[in-house]
Amino acid sequence: MNALNEPVFEVPYYQPTGQECELFEQAWKQHLPMLIKGPTGCGKTRFVAHMAARLKLPLFTVSCHDDLTAADLIGRHLITAGSTVWCDGPLTQAVRTGGICYLDEVVEARKDTTVVLHPLTDDRRILPIERTGEVLHAPDSFMLVVSYNPGYQHVLKTLKPSTRQRFVAMSFDFPPPEVEIGVVQQESGVSAEVAQRLVGLATSLRRLQGYDLEESVSTRLLVYAAKLMAAGMPPRMACLAALVEPLSDESDTIAALQSIVDTQF
Ligand code: ADP
Repeated sequence: MNALNEPVFEVPYYQPTGQECELFEQAWKQHLPMLIKGPTGCGKTRFVAHMAARLKLPLFTVSCHDDLTAADLIGRHLITAGSTVWCDGPLTQAVRTGGICYLDEVVEARKDTTVVLHPLTDDRRILPIERTGEVLHAPDSFMLVVSYNPGYQHVLKTLKPSTRQRFVAMSFDFPPPEVEIGVVQQESGVSAEVAQRLVGLATSLRRLQGYDLEESVSTRLLVYAAKLMAAGMPPRMACLAALVEPLSDESDTIAALQSIVDTQF
């Protein structure tokens, strides 16, 4: 809160790679829900946090999983000291406060859960709450944002076309090297030279073919490696811990990744 008792929104650092900030802002102004696709650790969550703060909107983030029910999003009755009270879920809170509701990895949620989003994602912009009989009308500032990683090739884990066609969508990827170097430096405090070497290493690791890697080195992992180095860890150990071990349990793959690290550090 500031002196006028208004909430202060600290804008988290986000380095754009294109016109994603402008697109997001226009989508918000036009009351359009947004779908962000991209690999894990490429900056989706940071981007949404950045935009929410820039637009001075409260942000309600939900990490979706396969046990997530509609009640987890909307709310439920809770029994406290003998009485029953209604407790809003994060989606309902976002609608009531006119904020952003961000559903991370939305494809993990059960299909019957994502269906509750439908009346919010067309021009009705309503949230019916069956349990209380309320029908909430989303204020103009409310926005629904969902993300998922299309790289996980789970046949069963995609959005139903009837759900995905309700969103404007954009694809994220790891930032281009010149941007990623700046991000690694800014997030960890390492020198430009170390950041450059780490990003060079990531480029080589991402090119690695022929191993059973579901995902490659993310910007998040690069930042982890850089943080360990900035704290004084030997570079090879930092890379092993942050860039190699998290990616695989296979000893052959670990050895191949480590041999690439050895060429750089
Ligand atoms: P995702 O939600 O895509 O899994 P995150 O948004 O959590 O990934 O990003 C992981 C980390 O990578 C962030 O915490 C941040 O340190 C860094 N990062 C990635 N891209 C950017 C960017 N464009 N600007 C600033 N930080 C970034």
